[in-house]
Amino acid sequence: MNKGFPAGMLAFDRLESGQVEWSGRLSADPSLWDLDDVALIDGPEVDLSIDAFTEGGVHVRGRLGAAVEMDCRRCLERIVRKVDVDLDLRFDPDIGPEDETEGLYAVDPDAPELDLLPALREELLLALPEFPLCRLDCKGICPKCGINRNEGNCGCQVEPADSRWDVLRQRFPQESDAAEGAGRGSDDG
Ligand SMILES: [Zn+2]
Ligand SMILES: [Zn+2]
Repeated sequence: MNKGFPAGMLAFDRLESGQVEWSGRLSADPSLWDLDDVALIDGPEVDLSIDAFTEGGVHVRGRLGAAVEMDCRRCLERIVRKVDVDLDLRFDPDIGPEDETEGLYAVDPDAPELDLLPALREELLLALPEFPLCRLDCKGICPKCGINRNEGNCGCQVEPADSRWDVLRQRFPQESDAAEGAGRGSDDG
């Protein structure tokens, strides 16, 4: 194993003698990762194989694993999630940052070393759950009194957030909302 770049930096001339492999743990320093309210529990672990393309550029394959702490989207309790990302990244010296697409990154052809961290950060961000919940049936926070409804019932009378769907589902005739009645069927010439 090649333990040469714990900060995510790889000198390009190392690739001249062939593939570079590295397994290890990156720094968890929040200033390096800049993940807003997502916190790394520990430094992300990577397992990487890095090759130079004969036509130029660098190919990075492997995986990145991390445990992150983030807010439950409903109750805002902090929860821990494991993230595992398969990596297949190309670093191309012939493109600019504006040409970057998924898995394809620009790289300064004059730079002495490849900084992997921005790409790894991007891949980690893409892999984070979009709507993390502490549990599937998380009851969230009462909008009236602010209690965490997973921990107790406050008894507040609160309209369910999806009440409009309930109206559609039930279609009670006594729900005589004139606007709704007019809207229904109006586009059915
Ligand atoms: Zn929750
Ligand atoms: Zn309440």
